[in-house]
Amino acid sequence: MAHKLSPLASPLLHKVVDGPEGWSGIEADDEWAAEIRRLAAERNAVILAHNYQIPEIQDIADYTGDSLGLSRIAAETDAEVIVFCGVHFMAESAKILSPEKTVLIPDERAGCSLADSITAEQLTEWKAEHPGALVVSYVNTTADVKALTDVCCTSSNAVDVVNSLPADKEILFNPDQFLGAHVKRETGRDNIHIWAGECHVHAGISGPELARRAEENPEADLYIHPECGCANSAIYLAGEGIVDPERVHMLSTGQMLDAAGRQGSGTVLVATEIGMLHQLRKAAPEIDFRAVNDRASCSYMKMITPAALLRALALGTDEVDVPADTADAARASLERMIAIGQPGLGE
Ligand code: SF4
Repeated sequence: MAHKLSPLASPLLHKVVDGPEGWSGIEADDEWAAEIRRLAAERNAVILAHNYQIPEIQDIADYTGDSLGLSRIAAETDAEVIVFCGVHFMAESAKILSPEKTVLIPDERAGCSLADSITAEQLTEWKAEHPGALVVSYVNTTADVKALTDVCCTSSNAVDVVNSLPADKEILFNPDQFLGAHVKRETGRDNIHIWAGECHVHAGISGPELARRAEENPEADLYIHPECGCANSAIYLAGEGIVDPERVHMLSTGQMLDAAGRQGSGTVLVATEIGMLHQLRKAAPEIDFRAVNDRASCSYMKMITPAALLRALALGTDEVDVPADTADAARASLERMIAIGQPGLGE
């Protein structure tokens, strides 16, 4: 069973200060890196970093990847403590899939505007308005919402998930309106109700901007990493024909790195949160990777600072807990998705 962690002494801890944008006061230098490794070893902790983390956090992590890929690593690791450098719902998913482990998030204030766009109370009311409807929720949702969900989905498998459900059943799709519109168009079903939620970062990847950047770079391929809400508008826009579908590649992290390795040179426009560029540039330095919008940065992801990570490892905070009944129900909705297949296009 998970247990509350005792604090560990660290010579850098006194430098950590709190502020409106999160924990700060620590430089990501060699001393910090050595101290992070020492504390992680003492805690028997594994450090997981989402692709949208700042480069310093990605580089110190044991594993970098998308949210579901990291949750699977969390479930398989022998480490007793998982430090999840990402946003809160992702750390919750790791806890749901690894209930016996201690899961820490370096700053529990790192939320997600998409996950926050529907609460369990709102979903309960919505279900009451549509008795008998099946609930399909994108993985960017809280554990409480997943617990009220019939099947979860990712951007990669949302169409397959909806197609697997009886055609005569109403579907309540939440929370991302762009992914919902894409699924409605692709499945041709008219009995899908779509929640009007969105990720605030998606605004940086608007239709006109995507079209303009594609026009300015006629030779460039377009990579869309679908595992976070900010890319869902790009998926929708690509489906609308705003960009030549031949140039559009929907790729998971691993597939993106493989594709970049095969491609070797040229220009690639990346339609997702800008943190992804770090892994790509490391994997294929000859390719000119350009952000569709270099302001498409998730401020929640960037709350996981060097100071926050040091504080979490030293003090054993902030622990993420999900009540057992909520975790069991949420796990069932994730497992139903995995049974349908293609949960994240592979790692
Ligand atoms: S990029 Fe959007 S969907 Fe992803 S964590 Fe940030 S707010 Fe949430």
